[in-house]
Amino acid sequence: ISLFATPIETLVNSTELFQKAIAGFRRMDEVLRHAPDIADAPGAPDLVLERGEITYRDVCFSYETRERTDTGEERPVIDHLNLTIRAGETLALVGPSGGGKSTTCALLPRFYDVDAGTIEIDGQDVRDVTQESLRKAIGLVQQDVYLFDGTIRENIAYGRPRASDSEIEQAARRANIHTFIETLPEGYNTVVGERGSRLSGGQKQRVAIARVFLKDPSILILDEATSALDNESEAAVQEALAELARGRTTIVIAHRLSTIRSADVIATVEQGRVVEQGTHDELMARDGTYARYYRMQFEGDRAAAWAC
Ligand code: ADP
Ligand code: MG
Repeated sequence: ISLFATPIETLVNSTELFQKAIAGFRRMDEVLRHAPDIADAPGAPDLVLERGEITYRDVCFSYETRERTDTGEERPVIDHLNLTIRAGETLALVGPSGGGKSTTCALLPRFYDVDAGTIEIDGQDVRDVTQESLRKAIGLVQQDVYLFDGTIRENIAYGRPRASDSEIEQAARRANIHTFIETLPEGYNTVVGERGSRLSGGQKQRVAIARVFLKDPSILILDEATSALDNESEAAVQEALAELARGRTTIVIAHRLSTIRSADVIATVEQGRVVEQGTHDELMARDGTYARYYRMQFEGDRAAAWAC
């Protein structure tokens, strides 16, 4: 049965939920045109996860629709980018809209392949291992949450359909959504409506977070919501995300001050490069790009261009 509303979504989702996440990064027509480009190398082994350390080495990448500078020269979207995220740590990516944060994240699960350089997990090039094992290792929480019109239980268990009720409930508890679910007359059997329309934005996000708890990946990519959540909802989501990130190697596209300040490392990404890297205090002391953005964003003399 098709769980999704439109033919295009059915197509995009036909293999697994992960495909939906690709759509979050890619433009729809592009997903349909290019998804088959990325294939497993012949005889590729599964990723062997040890600690979950991630290394970007001199990575360059351009979309097919290339960016051009004023002089008409091509400029890569990711331009000799270097990053290391130590196992279990959280790296916050910050910087101006269009700087390349989402693209940096999209390269890790191989939504696209790099043009040059390498991305490694525990020393293994992501292009050398099976995509299945790679994507099993990585959990994604994006701003747009895709729920299908089934029950809450089915939505949480999606991707692990054989999970037991107690595993599902445990995941929901950790995602801060169990108590709410219990208040519903049908509990976990509540049908969420098309695209989860019967839930608020914050509730949908917590269902999506419960999904990732159930998946239990070693690596996490979070595209933090800036968004229209009310304060109470935002706090609940925030808490669930912090709990989710604990003990996992995490890359977060960070908009919230609390996330940025508590990250182990902050990297400012501009024009596809890491221009500064360090802790909040280190970067403030440097008084460079980060400090400037920080003041614009959080000390509020004018609206900043730090969107996602
Ligand atoms: P950020 O997340 O920092 O806002 P992005 O990684 O989304 O930046 O975008 C970096 C650059 O790549 C921007 O110029 C953006 O317009 C371009 N870009 C992003 N996604 C696509 C895409 N699917 N196809 C073509 N260009 C894209
Ligand atoms: Mg982005």
